[in-house]
Amino acid sequence: MSYNRGYVFTDKRRKNIIKLNSKPKSAAWKKKISIAHKGLKPPKETRIKMSVSRRKRTDLSGDKSHFWKGGISKFNYSKNLLDRIKFKKTIQRKVFERDNYICQVCGQRGGKLQVDHIQSWANYIELRFDINNCRTLCMSCHYKITFGKPMSKNIKTWGQNFKYLKEG
Ligand SMILES: [Zn+2]
Repeated sequence: MSYNRGYVFTDKRRKNIIKLNSKPKSAAWKKKISIAHKGLKPPKETRIKMSVSRRKRTDLSGDKSHFWKGGISKFNYSKNLLDRIKFKKTIQRKVFERDNYICQVCGQRGGKLQVDHIQSWANYIELRFDINNCRTLCMSCHYKITFGKPMSKNIKTWGQNFKYLKEG
């Protein structure tokens, strides 16, 4: 397995892996593997779960990361991803409709619109689903507010909660 080359397992992780490998294989697991072997795309739900577990794995090595702060501000990837999905299903459209699909900064209607969280998504978890903390912005105004500089012309798309609406 070439992708593991150079990767040093800690004793704890090695034990965990042995434990995992000795578990009886569930029907769901077998199905996932058979899908993988056929080269087919697993269903969306499975893909999300797989991506969550991949991210968790990277998260474990966080103590070597520059952003690691002794675990105090450890980012919860699975909650983040599930909240993103929930947000798209519940609040996103309400924000666009309330703002009449108009960017609240430049007044552009339609085009590439996104929902901006006034108090940030990452730092104000309790305000993620508060519609009063949300506003409609076009992609370039959203970029400018988020990064404090104009969006480069080379950037075609970025960010989350994306909605394309044709003028009219
Ligand atoms: Zn705008």
